[in-house]
Amino acid sequence: MKQVLLQKMNNSDQYDRLRTGAGFLRMKEVFTGKKACISGLFMTAILSAVVFVCAFFAIGSAVIPEVKADPDIVRICIDPGHGGENLGADYNGYLEKDMTLIVAEAMREELAKYEGIEVFMTRTSDVDMSLEERVDYAAEVGADFFFCLHFNMSADHDMYGAECWVSAFDSKYARGMDFAKIEMRALTDLGLYDRGIKTRLNSKGTNYYGVLRMADEVDMPGIIIEHCHLDNYNDEEFYDHHDMLVKYGILDATCVAMYYGLRSDELGVDYSDMTYEETPVPTSVVKPDDTDPVLESVIYGEPYEAEGGTWTDVEIKAHDDDCRMLYYSYSTDGGIHWSERYRWMDDEGELIGDAILTDTIHTTIPVSAERDMYVIFKVYNLYNLDSESEPYYMAKPPAPEEEDQGQPAEGISQTTDIQNGSDGGISAYSDISRYDEATEIERPDEAVKPDTAFIVIAVILAVCILLVLLILGYVVYDNHRSSGRRRRR
Ligand SMILES: [Zn+2]
Repeated sequence: MKQVLLQKMNNSDQYDRLRTGAGFLRMKEVFTGKKACISGLFMTAILSAVVFVCAFFAIGSAVIPEVKADPDIVRICIDPGHGGENLGADYNGYLEKDMTLIVAEAMREELAKYEGIEVFMTRTSDVDMSLEERVDYAAEVGADFFFCLHFNMSADHDMYGAECWVSAFDSKYARGMDFAKIEMRALTDLGLYDRGIKTRLNSKGTNYYGVLRMADEVDMPGIIIEHCHLDNYNDEEFYDHHDMLVKYGILDATCVAMYYGLRSDELGVDYSDMTYEETPVPTSVVKPDDTDPVLESVIYGEPYEAEGGTWTDVEIKAHDDDCRMLYYSYSTDGGIHWSERYRWMDDEGELIGDAILTDTIHTTIPVSAERDMYVIFKVYNLYNLDSESEPYYMAKPPAPEEEDQGQPAEGISQTTDIQNGSDGGISAYSDISRYDEATEIERPDEAVKPDTAFIVIAVILAVCILLVLLILGYVVYDNHRSSGRRRRR
């Protein structure tokens, strides 16, 4: 009987049951069976996952409030367009990526003179960044507004002027418009032609421009400012020297200060009383115009002699129900060659406002003494859509005296090669790299934050690995002990 009892006591299951109770036995079965290792790892993995999730949220909640420090401080992110391999517009020695950086630095420097604003920059050197990286960075620092600085260029080098692009959606549209109106007023006050504030959609119906699309996703208003065109003589005085770029930076900064109602003791300005009519939040997507303008009529006057040539006056009537007219051009050879694009201005030289009504403009074109002309006029709306008139036959005038064609009476030159004006522009920025040296600034502290988080996660990971090793150690030890006991028995 005693032997039986001893035998029973020697049975490891019974022994352990007596020694530590059923709970421990179940644990032990799990850890000492054939599947011991797998079970151990499985449990450790679950444990690690729980620790990780807890740690992630703990770190997240510890870091994020620091990013959004003071709700009274405006935080903006400036994005100098392009960089590194991504040159942007590249024309006659002018490089957009360098120019946007100079403007951005000047903008940041100017804004540093204001109270209540914190400025971040996506890049401060000549590096290539993806659009995603730019927007992610802005979101990471908790920017209230994303300002993308650019310069423009067109395929045929025939466009000029400043334009702004904003999101087509809800409050991002409204806030974008509010700022863009201030910005465009400042740019046109400089003398730049107003190419408008526009939206653009892709085939999926979301914002065409990636930065605006991605900024929308994180609910951050943004704007793309195309200051001027780098490839057209009409804009040359607005980009051909360094001081002008600094001027853009100060202008952009001042517009930000106006938009947010900031003040600066250093500059002695206070925009806190400045008011503007807020753009209502649209209830549906603000679609760009996709219909051509309507060219109603072109009326030609009788040719007349003046200023060493023969001229004719022309009245053009056009309209677009969706947006205003932007340019016009003409051909005198039935559409083979075209003039440069001229501003759609009334007789006082004022931009004709948001159309709907018929726009009428007057111009003068030279009449060829050498050949018959087939004149066609082309009108362009704000979205660069155009309409052409029917060819108008104009017989060469009977020439009693041979005369050279002279300069036009009212500022309209003959069809000219518009690139001529830009030829002298090269090398203005050939030593642009020296500006780069002056632009070395440190990234804000927030940029370092992810590293701290990384260290904490690494420590937790190390603890988890240690835990796994301890459990495995125990499993091996216990297995060894059990098999020893079995051997002794
Ligand atoms: Zn650009």
